[in-house]
Amino acid sequence: MIEFIDVKKIYKNDKIALSNINLKIDKGEFVFLIGSSGAGKSTFMKLLLKEEEVTSGKLIIDGVDITKLPRRKVPKLRRSMGIVFQDFRLLQNKNVYDNVAFAMEITGHSQKEIRRKVPSVLSLVGLSDKAKSYPSELSGGEQQRVSIARAIVNNPSLLIADEPTGNLDPQTAWEIMELLKDINKRGTTVIMATHAKDVVDKLKKRVIALEKGVIVRDEERGTYDE
Ligand code: ADP
Ligand code: ADP
Repeated sequence: MIEFIDVKKIYKNDKIALSNINLKIDKGEFVFLIGSSGAGKSTFMKLLLKEEEVTSGKLIIDGVDITKLPRRKVPKLRRSMGIVFQDFRLLQNKNVYDNVAFAMEITGHSQKEIRRKVPSVLSLVGLSDKAKSYPSELSGGEQQRVSIARAIVNNPSLLIADEPTGNLDPQTAWEIMELLKDINKRGTTVIMATHAKDVVDKLKKRVIALEKGVIVRDEERGTYDE
């Protein structure tokens, strides 16, 4: 579903953030993206979301080269992706239900669809009893569950997670990983940038390692270190 062909990204200050990126990610894969700070992980994810433009090469998603995608089609591309951040990024003045419902409202779903879908997604992430709580009343793990619910409520084919366990204690991190694995098992492709060595080593998923903007390792059932 995703193919990078000779992708290069040079920022305006002439910084080469990614070069010679060639890879395919099949529908339903779970991929860890690893590498030290500055290796190019965020850039990789921003290119997929078309938050940054590829400098040269092709980036094909479901048969379409998104480097040539007209601007008017970008919102539809983004709707096919869910994104989860390290710092949750919830709306503090909305409760759990409304944080998730809002993601459906801005994508034009009817109130009827929202009333049907939000409770089922909250149930999936184990937060049915917290629907009326506000983010400030939740633990870090619960806030991350809300952000995952928001990311998947529109049934994206791809979930991009940027250090989703970075702010969580080890036990809570494992619970979030179980949830991401469940979502992946239901067919959603997951690309997760992480520094969590124990998580990567335990899950034995595909590992793509970046170093100074190039892929230095790409292994099925990989580990954090070589
Ligand atoms: P990572 O997410 O692995 O920390 P990034 O993709 O953020 O790496 O950064 C890759 C390289 O590109 C780094 O050298 C970084 O300083 C540079 N970079 C990132 N964003 C920008 C930008 N907007 N303008 C210029 N350089 C950038
Ligand atoms: P700590 O003792 O560092 O607080 P935990 O007790 O949560 O951390 O976990 C210790 C180790 O046990 C983890 O590093 C991990 O390898 C493994 N582990 C814990 N929970 C799980 C889980 N749900 N699934 C897989 N491995 C787990």
